[in-house]
Amino acid sequence: MTNVERYLVPRTIEEASEGLRGGDVSIVAGGTDLMPQSQSGKIKFGAALMNIRRIEGMRGIVRSANGFRIGALTTITDLLDSPEIRSELPALWQASDHFASDQIRNAATIGGNLCNASPAGDTHAPLLVYAARVVLASKPNAAVQTRIVPLSDFLVGPGKTSRAAGELLTAVEIDAPPPSFVSKYFKFGTRPALDISTISIGLGGVREEGRLRNVHVAIGAVAPTVIRAPHAEAALEGKVLDKTTIQAAAAAADHDIRPISDVRASDWYRRELVRNMLERMLLDVCHG
Ligand SMILES: Cc1cc2nc3c(=O)[nH]c(=O)nc-3n(C[C@H](O)[C@H](O)[C@H](O)COP(=O)(O)OP(=O)(O)OC[C@H]3O[C@@H](n4cnc5c(N)ncnc54)[C@H](O)[C@@H]3O)c2cc1C
Repeated sequence: MTNVERYLVPRTIEEASEGLRGGDVSIVAGGTDLMPQSQSGKIKFGAALMNIRRIEGMRGIVRSANGFRIGALTTITDLLDSPEIRSELPALWQASDHFASDQIRNAATIGGNLCNASPAGDTHAPLLVYAARVVLASKPNAAVQTRIVPLSDFLVGPGKTSRAAGELLTAVEIDAPPPSFVSKYFKFGTRPALDISTISIGLGGVREEGRLRNVHVAIGAVAPTVIRAPHAEAALEGKVLDKTTIQAAAAAADHDIRPISDVRASDWYRRELVRNMLERMLLDVCHG
């Protein structure tokens, strides 16, 4: 039994924002998180269920002179099929390539992945590596308003974001990385493409003269949200990328993470995975 009294199918961001003003509205995009959560009793729908899939202009990838705007309804398959994502944002492309099955990828949206705020969400680490921002729309008065929030401030806890109830996530923005920016994504799961991550790592930085600058390291499934790893980043920033630096950075990451033991892995095993896999990724960058 559901308590849904109204089913809303907005065609524009304005209509959706208007519908959200009433409060107690559950938003559904691909439904790949929402539906299982509802069926298992983890969540209850609000009085209205809003299907946002038909909103115009919220799906697709636009590459402008400054960077990327990825509509919130863009699916994981859309990301995989994009030559620009593959060549310019390879960590996001690799995360999409390790994301669930074809059926799930066809329905799952980038906006749903962020709003669901799982500590193991696969798009989060690459998007933190690219310092992505999310665009939120609402209609508190007569006109639609937008606010832009760094992703690092949007993800606040397991299943929790800084999105207000009346806000719709409409897009993700990413500045174009400089040409010498290298980035990678690694996911470890028992069956990496089908399982939720046991751990995941995103790594990015500008490679110049054997060093990495503007280093971003993001790690998933080791804390209440996917996190940046400031100790590991400081151990790498501007240093010659040799074996000593790499081992120091991998060891420093241990101070950034707070993993738990659960059905997928123990705290100890997650720490070992992070150290070994970060080291392997850095060696790849060093020799690449
Ligand atoms: C079998 C299976 C395998 C999976 N494997 C993976 C995996 O490998 N990696 C991974 O990261 N995830 C995985 N998932 C989880 C899920 O597929 C993703 O999180 C997906 O991206 C969610 O997107 P969606 O469009 O289906 O979201 P929905 O289920 O429609 O919504 C998720 C949440 O976000 C809210 N929401 C959605 N869009 C918006 C918006 N634009 N504005 C505001 N709120 C919004 C909804 O209200 C809901 O709370 C898996 C799920 C299943 C069932």
